[in-house]
Amino acid sequence: MSVQTPPTLQELTVHSLLRNEAMAMSYLGELPAVLFPKVFKEAFARRHNNLVKEMVAVLPFPCLPVGALMEIPNLKTYQALLDGIDMGLKEEFHHREKNLKILDLRNVHHAFWNICAGEGKSSCSSETLDKKQVVKVFPRYVLRQRLRVIVDLCLKLSLNEAQAYFLSWVQQRKSSLYFCYIKMTIWSLPFQDIKGILNVFDTEHITELELHTKWTLLQLGYFAHYFGQMRNLRKLILAPLHMRTFSTVERTMVRETRSVNNFISQFSQFNCLQHLFISQVHFLRVQMNQILGCLMTRLETLSVTNYVTSQGNLNSFACCQSLFQLKHLDLRETVLYSLDLMPLRALLHKVEDTLEILELEGCRMIDSQLNAPLPALRQCSQLTKINLYKNDFSMHILRALLQHTANWNKIVVEQYPAPLECYDELSHVSRERFSQLCSQLMATLRTIRQPKNITFLTKMCQTCAKHCVYTQVTRLCRCWH
Ligand SMILES: [Zn+2]
Repeated sequence: MSVQTPPTLQELTVHSLLRNEAMAMSYLGELPAVLFPKVFKEAFARRHNNLVKEMVAVLPFPCLPVGALMEIPNLKTYQALLDGIDMGLKEEFHHREKNLKILDLRNVHHAFWNICAGEGKSSCSSETLDKKQVVKVFPRYVLRQRLRVIVDLCLKLSLNEAQAYFLSWVQQRKSSLYFCYIKMTIWSLPFQDIKGILNVFDTEHITELELHTKWTLLQLGYFAHYFGQMRNLRKLILAPLHMRTFSTVERTMVRETRSVNNFISQFSQFNCLQHLFISQVHFLRVQMNQILGCLMTRLETLSVTNYVTSQGNLNSFACCQSLFQLKHLDLRETVLYSLDLMPLRALLHKVEDTLEILELEGCRMIDSQLNAPLPALRQCSQLTKINLYKNDFSMHILRALLQHTANWNKIVVEQYPAPLECYDELSHVSRERFSQLCSQLMATLRTIRQPKNITFLTKMCQTCAKHCVYTQVTRLCRCWH
């Protein structure tokens, strides 16, 4: 029989307050700040909408991280929240000593609602956002008068009720709000709807953009106009962007090419871009070098995945200054087989003092190719993670690689493919050889340095679609059980 922990005095106080909404509202002025988050969280969850509205208006904190409470927001409660903001705006939050400066609608800061106010303040204050992330478009005196809003908008097939209400609320209060951080994720929303939404927000306030769309290339060309206005983008994720079109009419093909070029040329507008992710954007296949050529900033992250690249594109990596301070290079599932990897070696030399994560999983590299970047890899002393899964390497080259890693003092995670010698002529894994060869490689490594988290992975089993894994011990695919 389990013993239930008795409720704390604080919990008893909160529950008895919420039993009578009118009473709770009459005591709001005397409510200690330490109880405020707990009472607000409960009032929000139990949809005591009048209480939510009153509490927002008299909030004793500079930041309201309410996004953490709104996974599936109830429309009425959401409206009460925004009504409370309106009340505060009318009474001018900034005239009171303890005032609300930031409304954070992202699903973060969960700790704020679970600990007492004194500690909560440290986890979410007006200083919480990295200063570099915040967009500053207006002068300071204008900013002081506005309520700063941080929002994470995920737009799917159509707007949900809460999103639609929020957008119309924003539109009517534009002069009182200041969007210092907007993350926008667009999933297959019709292009016409996006135009309307982008007209509500100032596009230059968008700091993160994630595009997963099924627009035509021509629509993408129209979007380029808004895309180029997002001058404060820090992070950009482009996943499959368009429906494949197979134009036979020359006039259409010319317009499509113009659209793509127009879209690419907008990359020269981004003054703050730090993280660029491109996945399965096949029309960029021959134009990756054009994008790199347009970049105006030094990137921290470049991720180009699920991609068929060319020697020309790879060559452009080596001479693109925007990549020379990379911390994270991710080329997973980008086929490098049959390419000369000397440009990769040149790039690794450039980033040897900054690169922390290198991911080359599924690049289908072979022994002779790895020889090229090996001397540069040796110098990457800041590496914390390397992923070389799903490449075709023999014992000989894997051993050579491990012997080149004495400088990797910070490495925590190492992921290597199982050596080719583990497979028989039908590409089946030999259990004994797999275990024996991986332990030999581990022994080689231990003469160089002490590994922390190292894994060898076989190719996918043709029978059960699983992999065999060697860490400190061997874990075989289902067929061996
Ligand atoms: Zn299997």
